[in-house]
Amino acid sequence: MDHRSVSFRRRWLASATSLVIVGLPWLAQADVTFQYEAPAIAPETASGFTDKPGWATERFAVAAANPLATDAGYQILKAGGSAVDAAIAVQMVLTLVEPQSSGIGGGAFLMHYDGSDVAAYDGRETAPRAVRESLFLDGDGEPLAFLEAAASGLSVGVPGTVRMLEMAHERHGKLPWRELFIPAITLAEEGFEVSPRLHTSLAAEERLRDDPLGGAFYYDDQGEPLAAGAQLRNPALGAVLREIAEHGSKAMHTGAIAEDLVQRVQNHPRRPGAISLEDMATYVAKERAPLCTDWQAYRVCGFPPPSSGHLTIMQILGMLEHLPGVDEVLVDDHPSEEWLHQFLEASRLAFADRGMYIADPDFVDPPGGSWESLLNPSYLASRAELIGEESMGPDAAKPGRPSGQDAAWAIQPAQPEYGTSHISVIDEEGNAVAMTTTIEAAFGSRMLADGGTGLAGGYLLNNELTDFSFRPLDADGTPIANRVEPGKRPRSSMSPTLVFDRESDELVASLGSPGGAAIIHYTAKTLVAMLDWGLNAQEALNLPHAITLGGPAYVEEGRFPAELIDALNARGHEVSERELTSGLQAIQRTEEGFFGGADPRREGVVMGD
Ligand code: GLU
Repeated sequence: MDHRSVSFRRRWLASATSLVIVGLPWLAQADVTFQYEAPAIAPETASGFTDKPGWATERFAVAAANPLATDAGYQILKAGGSAVDAAIAVQMVLTLVEPQSSGIGGGAFLMHYDGSDVAAYDGRETAPRAVRESLFLDGDGEPLAFLEAAASGLSVGVPGTVRMLEMAHERHGKLPWRELFIPAITLAEEGFEVSPRLHTSLAAEERLRDDPLGGAFYYDDQGEPLAAGAQLRNPALGAVLREIAEHGSKAMHTGAIAEDLVQRVQNHPRRPGAISLEDMATYVAKERAPLCTDWQAYRVCGFPPPSSGHLTIMQILGMLEHLPGVDEVLVDDHPSEEWLHQFLEASRLAFADRGMYIADPDFVDPPGGSWESLLNPSYLASRAELIGEESMGPDAAKPGRPSGQDAAWAIQPAQPEYGTSHISVIDEEGNAVAMTTTIEAAFGSRMLADGGTGLAGGYLLNNELTDFSFRPLDADGTPIANRVEPGKRPRSSMSPTLVFDRESDELVASLGSPGGAAIIHYTAKTLVAMLDWGLNAQEALNLPHAITLGGPAYVEEGRFPAELIDALNARGHEVSERELTSGLQAIQRTEEGFFGGADPRREGVVMGD
């Protein structure tokens, strides 16, 4: 990657004169050590499938969904930053260059390995204090249409990404917090090229044009989206990031930036939301006990509830272990029909348990008092016995009784989810990060906030609360575990994953993906492909996808032969083809160092030395 040779300090001081609202005392100080050079990047093709080479590195590696973001992490690592430092720089650049997927207006889960211990940091959004469980019901008690709920003030949760990153940085950071913002601030103020994917996302988006700030910033007077390759500056975001760089998360959660967020949500023209200044000020990131599960020769560590990711992935992988072996798992460049059948059946059963049991652990007790009950080998063996040669068919899988007792909950029906980004980093000292980060749907709640700066641009507010069940009760009046409650975190599918060798304890891989509930299938299949089938990270990410949330099955459009689809249908899967746009990122350890893969379906790249 070429770098324009302009030192950060020169551009920083040059741009400082044009800023109106933020004080910049520290910018003038001579103690900024990190020299950022903005890269000249030619964006690649918009969508579809772009072959990626896979990247071998020796000492460190960073993988993210956009080349400018990956490069920011790379420059931080090169300057001696830790894996968490790099992840923070990457996240701030993603807020700017991939605003449709994640940012400071959203939430994230970060898994960290420090060479001996694994930690899980929860920056999931919370529901405001003033919400009621009927948040997403209309006057007749019926659920709102998804987009109607999402593109509104109702869906906005109290953001948690900045607080969570601050917590992770306090424990694992090496470079000063404020320096990690230099790449994003520089690109926001100097400008960057709109990527093809941002362009196509803007073109496909229906509601962002209605938002006064978002419509004016991302579209022209005729409603045409910014072209791919257009230079874009985002002075409002630059100013907001300067504040957070200088004052930490309190600049986001109190004062002008928080006031602006609250005022926008509370004054949404159609459906105002309830976030208050108190909600903003009192948000806390949480450290949770990670879930680590033995599987084959590995220990797979993932995020506990409120994410359903790890539990559901490991239920699927655990059930597969109890099924008869498949003779041929790969045929040509795709998983075989026999393997896919088992994978889809295990997914049906795992998603039934997910719909019944998994929600914010601060509000909902796990079955039998422990989430591990869902992964108990004898429980999974009994679930695997339900899988035969024929599919049980759509909507036939029922939740099990992992604790041996009936559950107090009703099953949550499947709901749409989209958006999100995944970052994997391994630094020179062997610290590792797997972080999945989201504003939920593409462009979140379709509200751009300028932090009260009055400058052009800003950051997008999340619609994470639509990850709650819209209906609080089922038809019999039984409560759904993942219903809306004040202060609660909506159930997620995000699955940042770190894998270790059980014998040597060595880190083997860091991976994860966006994709809504299908994150679970994408990550589960990648684990199998890399660790059981022996594919390298890039080959594993290239494999075509097949998913089911319990209903019909979907296979990735144009990637499987018609006979295979016919054969799955003959077993009763009710298959249709659709785009399954994962955004997997994976870094694996090799004998020479690391090998990273980035999803050919998006714009991600891996960098390292
Ligand atoms: N909001 C979703 C979750 O937390 C992720 C959405 C997506 O990946 O598209 O599970």
